[in-house]
Amino acid sequence: MSYPPWTSVSEAAALLASGHIVAIPTETVYGLAGNALDPLALAKIFAAKGRPVFDPLIVHIADINSLDNVAQDIPEAAYTLARTFWPGPLTMVLPKKPCIPDLATSGLSTVAVRLPQHPIAQDIIRQAEVPLAAPSANLFKHVSPTTAEHVADQLGSKIDGIVDGGPCSVGVESTIISFQNEIPVILRPGAITPLMIESVIGKVILKNSTSNPGEAMLSPGTMDTHYQPHIPLYYGDLPKGYVLPSNTVRLAFGNTVSNIPASLNLSETGNLTEATANLYAFMHKLDVEPNRFILVDPIPNEGLGIALNDRLKRASIKRL
Ligand code: AMP
Ligand code: MG
Repeated sequence: MSYPPWTSVSEAAALLASGHIVAIPTETVYGLAGNALDPLALAKIFAAKGRPVFDPLIVHIADINSLDNVAQDIPEAAYTLARTFWPGPLTMVLPKKPCIPDLATSGLSTVAVRLPQHPIAQDIIRQAEVPLAAPSANLFKHVSPTTAEHVADQLGSKIDGIVDGGPCSVGVESTIISFQNEIPVILRPGAITPLMIESVIGKVILKNSTSNPGEAMLSPGTMDTHYQPHIPLYYGDLPKGYVLPSNTVRLAFGNTVSNIPASLNLSETGNLTEATANLYAFMHKLDVEPNRFILVDPIPNEGLGIALNDRLKRASIKRL
């Protein structure tokens, strides 16, 4: 095989149907896909990413009717959300069907399910004729890939194929909502915001997916330290008098005033959708020598900004 292993849609589907692992484009980030019903394929995903097996995977389907094949005892509110936001960047945690291997769910009795909007992702799932488990196609804890080149850089020699679908339109991982409690809980913020969800099914609880030092994790896989570039990134107020290292670069947002020149601007007009689509690509771009420190401007913590704040807090070093 030549590296990186660029692959067509039909080749990818055939590889996936025969137990191989292939990176595929979705509207959120690139996913490293494998047959969700095949424990061996799942094991290959964990191994390629270096992902701990206690961090469960999201199962991707190509049409709403397939939801009943992977989940059961589905509350009406989940169907309502599926009809409203699928296909799209929303993942729902529901009781799992017995066909879903323990490895996909880290032994939990629930499974996370999503119907992605990207037409290539849908085609691949349909042609493979199996649901696909697909965590982000990056090494564990590293910055998620929003282009096929990002995938090739991190995983090119470890996986069986990469399908290039261009840059991801959303740019951050899906919103995750759990129905395990009476009031649904948003475990991870994403492009489908709490307000959008509440306008359809009423009250939801937004879990703070970053914890304080020493606090237990709120849901498996929602780690405090995640999405980290190699070069230290800092998101937050600088302590008074703190002297930044030389070769500090600034990732700007909107028209924030600073005495450090902006290297890149997530969105000059302060548009949160544009900023989200740019976030990981700009983190990849700034994560190079001779840069020594990446400082990020504050972003309003509302709407799509909730997801941006969540990812930046987790990408940030925790103390200076
Ligand atoms: P990703 O790394 O984008 O594939 O996201 C997978 C994340 O979904 C995991 O890290 C968990 O936080 C969450 N997740 C998946 N399955 C479950 C589940 N059954 N219960 C709670 N959270 C889950
Ligand atoms: Mg990930």
